[in-house]
Amino acid sequence: MTEELLIETRDLTVGFPVGGRLFNKKTLKAVDGISIGIPRGSFFGVVGESGSGKTTLGRALLNAVPITGGHATYHDGEVRYDLSTLSGTELKDYRKRAQLIFQDPYAALSPRMTVRDIIAEPLEVMGLTASREETDARVREIAAKCRLNLEHLRRFPHAFSGGQRQRISIARALVSGPRFVVADESVAALDVSIQADILNLLKNLQSELGLTYMFISHDLSVVAHSCDHVAVMYLGRIVESAPTRKLFAAPRHPYTKALFSAIPSLDPDDRGRAQKLEGEIPSPTNQPPGCKFHTRCPHATDLCKAREPVLQTESGHAVACHRWQELL
Ligand code: SF4
Repeated sequence: MTEELLIETRDLTVGFPVGGRLFNKKTLKAVDGISIGIPRGSFFGVVGESGSGKTTLGRALLNAVPITGGHATYHDGEVRYDLSTLSGTELKDYRKRAQLIFQDPYAALSPRMTVRDIIAEPLEVMGLTASREETDARVREIAAKCRLNLEHLRRFPHAFSGGQRQRISIARALVSGPRFVVADESVAALDVSIQADILNLLKNLQSELGLTYMFISHDLSVVAHSCDHVAVMYLGRIVESAPTRKLFAAPRHPYTKALFSAIPSLDPDDRGRAQKLEGEIPSPTNQPPGCKFHTRCPHATDLCKAREPVLQTESGHAVACHRWQELL
């Protein structure tokens, strides 16, 4: 049986003009030719370092940054939207259907608003309720689902811990009844024990509300326990993509292997085998030729420096590396 895709992209590109002078302008391609399918009801992970383009990809799928090339579609029952041309009532409807959970639960919540008003704001801005009573009922309903004490609704955000604030952020994101949720580093600012609590909450809400997540993280160990599928990004491209179990059992791309090495191990032998990721990710305005990872890859050859590898799929596991089979 083929999975139904809620989100599908084909050669999706997001570019920004940079440089001051007319003849000196360049295009920074933060997302460069990405083709993915996010099945309905899935927990789809996107992993990469800062500067890999994962946040821009999430924003593009929320229609928060302009798509400059390729296609992205949202398909849910009778509703089918081309995200590069959305406007008017379709765009208004899509805002309700696609929401973002922010990274930083401290910065995301206005200190001057009560928790009730923070959660209610999207309903009021989008005009989704007809009366204050209806708004209050919806706020109470979603707050309870996010395991917030109803007595907390009268308080201000400073009274809460990081985990509680993130539950408030989640309630605010879900109050409009979205189908697609982008969670951008949504547990990165939290302690490890609280991270597990928030991930469990997201999982429970997924099945209860029929949500589809794009879960963006720099940390492979976080996506291991929550995501069904993981796409690894480097310099705006996907370099490896596979069901989580396959990716963790046998990563193929040297960049993915280096990210795995960054996961702390309790085994002293493993620590000795770690492949440290050297250097910095290059600037998207000054990308190297050939394989974009060759400036940091210990296995780079002349072929790697001259020709960019194509993402090739074998048994549901895609990788973009000339040498992945030799390096297994
Ligand atoms: Fe490394 Fe070459 Fe593979 Fe790129 S194509 S990841 S440089 S081995």
